[in-house]
Amino acid sequence: MERMEPVAASSGEDDGLEPRLSCPWCDSDEVEKVSEYGPHLMVYQYVCRSCHSPFEVIKR
Ligand SMILES: [Zn+2]
Repeated sequence: MERMEPVAASSGEDDGLEPRLSCPWCDSDEVEKVSEYGPHLMVYQYVCRSCHSPFEVIKR
């Protein structure tokens, strides 16, 4: 049985490239990236672990 899975182009982690982020709502730095690409290609989607609010970070 063959199963095709979508493979995302992955060339490893981008260690050291991500700036230190903090939640814009509660200023916590307990944030987690939930999506590499949001509705727009130039944003990352993050969620705050502290207040669970999603927010976007503009990719530079
Ligand atoms: Zn927060």
